[in-house]
Amino acid sequence: KERAYSMMIRARIPGGVLSADQYLQFDKLADDYGNGTMRITTRQTFQLHGILKANLKETIKGINEVLITTLGGCGDQVRNTVSCAAPHEGPFYDAVRQDLLKLVDATSAKTNAYHEIWLDGEKLDLSDGTSPEDPLYGEAYLPRKFKIAFTYEGDNCCDVYSNDIAIIAHRDGDEVEGYTLAIGGGMGRTASDKHTHPFLAQAFCFVKPDELIETCRTVISIQRDFGNRENRKFARMKYLVQERGIEWFRTEAEARLGHALALPREIEWKSAHDHLGRMSGANGQVHLGFFIENGRIHDTESMKLKSVLRDIMTTYQPGVRMTTQQNLILTGLTEEMASEIEGKLRDAGVKLVEEQTPVLVHSMACPSMPTCGLGIAESERALPAIVRKFESALAELGLRDEPISIRMTGCANGCARPYIAEIGFVGRVIGKYDLFLGASAEGTRTNQLFREMVPAEELVSTVYPILKAFREERLPAETFGDYCNRVGIEALQERFVPVS
Ligand code: SF4
Repeated sequence: KERAYSMMIRARIPGGVLSADQYLQFDKLADDYGNGTMRITTRQTFQLHGILKANLKETIKGINEVLITTLGGCGDQVRNTVSCAAPHEGPFYDAVRQDLLKLVDATSAKTNAYHEIWLDGEKLDLSDGTSPEDPLYGEAYLPRKFKIAFTYEGDNCCDVYSNDIAIIAHRDGDEVEGYTLAIGGGMGRTASDKHTHPFLAQAFCFVKPDELIETCRTVISIQRDFGNRENRKFARMKYLVQERGIEWFRTEAEARLGHALALPREIEWKSAHDHLGRMSGANGQVHLGFFIENGRIHDTESMKLKSVLRDIMTTYQPGVRMTTQQNLILTGLTEEMASEIEGKLRDAGVKLVEEQTPVLVHSMACPSMPTCGLGIAESERALPAIVRKFESALAELGLRDEPISIRMTGCANGCARPYIAEIGFVGRVIGKYDLFLGASAEGTRTNQLFREMVPAEELVSTVYPILKAFREERLPAETFGDYCNRVGIEALQERFVPVS
């Protein structure tokens, strides 16, 4: 008898945009085949956990029925392409969205196997041992997963530099003037290998809108041809960019494209906050963003989040956007609808963002145990209690309103982007975490390792004296991450020695 294998299914939802009916389908599939919960990920998509192997096909079919695919949700290819989730309207934003969708199409695997295996049920004829070659991915796909993000100049809510290709849109009136591309970002590292690091993408080039697709495909093709296929630990494009250098990359791209690339623009960031709370849209429309702790949509005894969202989607049919910080924005509402929805959320025990502390709203954990097989320490199940302790500590220090970002992951892969958090906890063994400090609030600087193997119950007490020093010594308007960076990690390590 076969074992009852349980799987995770991850959809591909470009930019995290979906309709209420599509949302409701995931809600139903989570109940019919999953563990009854839905998980918004840092790549703006849904993961369903606990799908039994025998139900995989029905679940994937159900997702495809609402015109969403899982192709590209996983694998050594371009993953779900993310973007700033702000529900802006107008020709400029529409044009960026169209470019995103064109790029998704141009970087999707052109395979029939997915449909043959999951949707039609007809067996593939692989008897001659060959498979049709994909025009971009070739026979062997990419050395490793590949991530792309879009955002608008000034708004880094989606941590654009953590991607293999960061695409930053420049505006010229109602039109897209062009895009600055940065390349070679990526979070993952291996705790036992000091040669592995998180990197932010480096400025690469500026392209006109009609050059975007070909330039991105060229960058991907260089990684396909030169990326490390010997050692998976070094297979992400960031290592290729680090080893060969950005100039080599540009020369290779120019040779393949047959023309010179324009230099990237200087970028100034104004905000990296997620788009939460009430927002005014065009024609009197209202959008409502709210915080979902660690992206988990479920019902608990005190909070009926999944049920109330089902009710809201059915009753009001809003547009839906998932954010890269694992939150949700309901779009296209009237004032009246927004007020009713806020009332329903409150009645269901869901707090609105104005009623939550900034440190909670800026917290983020990866799933880890028990649903991620790579997790070696708790994350999603551990962070809520730790953040509550930080809330108390910050209130005690008079820092309640500081929007300090805290992120936790259950292993060094860094799915919740802990290396660009002001306080990052990365699981090393069960119950112990490496503690990182000093990233910038705008996602433009990674943090540094402050201390290794801190027991979970000592995470708050380890950071507390540094928060206290920050309160005493900060410069006007200085953030906690900037303070740690200015003082320096080594100086902090010397000053705040662990009590043994
Ligand atoms: Fe990602 Fe590791 Fe967390 Fe799993 S445990 S979700 S691989 S960071």
